[in-house]
Amino acid sequence: MTKTLNAECFCGEVRLKINGVPEAMGYCHCDSCRHWSAGPVNAFSLWAPANIEIIQGQHNLQTYTKTENSLRKWCGTCGGHVMTEHPKMNLTDVYSAVIHRLEFNPSVHVFYSEKRISMPDGLPKFSDMPKEMGGSGKLLPE
Ligand SMILES: [Zn+2]
Ligand SMILES: [Zn+2]
Repeated sequence: MTKTLNAECFCGEVRLKINGVPEAMGYCHCDSCRHWSAGPVNAFSLWAPANIEIIQGQHNLQTYTKTENSLRKWCGTCGGHVMTEHPKMNLTDVYSAVIHRLEFNPSVHVFYSEKRISMPDGLPKFSDMPKEMGGSGKLLPE
């Protein structure tokens, strides 16, 4: 049986259905994530785009493209952030905080060199990204 999760923006106008399991989950400490989220860290969950279905409010989903590899999407009514499409990686980050009952099981920290808070949880801390995701693979102390 395929697992289905529901996600929605702050006001509930934009609703998603997400199928299957995420490709990766973790924390991003990069400057862009912090400024976009207005939070100290972004808890991401990356999904194959085909697994995400917008079931309500598609017309209300706004997009901001600062760089061509990040299409940040939010609800035009409440301003709540919903997801970021990463076309070059062919993955979409649905922010773990907007998914109902997601079993958040992080495996990695990325862009730890840009961190504002330390999170000594025993998980690997990449200076930028793992090699298999196109980064340097360099690890930093917690
Ligand atoms: Zn909304
Ligand atoms: Zn980031």
